[in-house]
Amino acid sequence: MRLRPHEVAIGILGDEFEPGIFPDPNDAFDGKAEALAFLRSLTEEDFGDDCAKWRSWFNACSWEMLELHYDEWYRKELINTRDVRLEHAEKCWRSVTQRRCPNCGGLCPEYRNRCWVCEHTVGRVLA
Ligand SMILES: [Zn+2]
Repeated sequence: MRLRPHEVAIGILGDEFEPGIFPDPNDAFDGKAEALAFLRSLTEEDFGDDCAKWRSWFNACSWEMLELHYDEWYRKELINTRDVRLEHAEKCWRSVTQRRCPNCGGLCPEYRNRCWVCEHTVGRVLA
């Protein structure tokens, strides 16, 4: 049975996965701290390493509500990543180029075929 990310995260918190299975579910997160950070971010709750409390929260959550939480989490991740990348592109390339991606507005040096921030194809401009 395929586990969803929150089930994997709870299992990691509770040391529930035997070592040596492949693929190893423990690899899904970089340790307990990251598994917990994921659960907090997904649910906006915090039960620490209390697996029973996390499980009862998820059990009480309807299927629709859970999907809503996942949707919002993905959107939040996307925005975070993009903001961080935009900032980084600005720092890296402001002295290199003035070209901006038409999709996200990020700086995009002429030698790049795809925008580093959003992967939009901008096309290479070779001098
Ligand atoms: Zn872009």
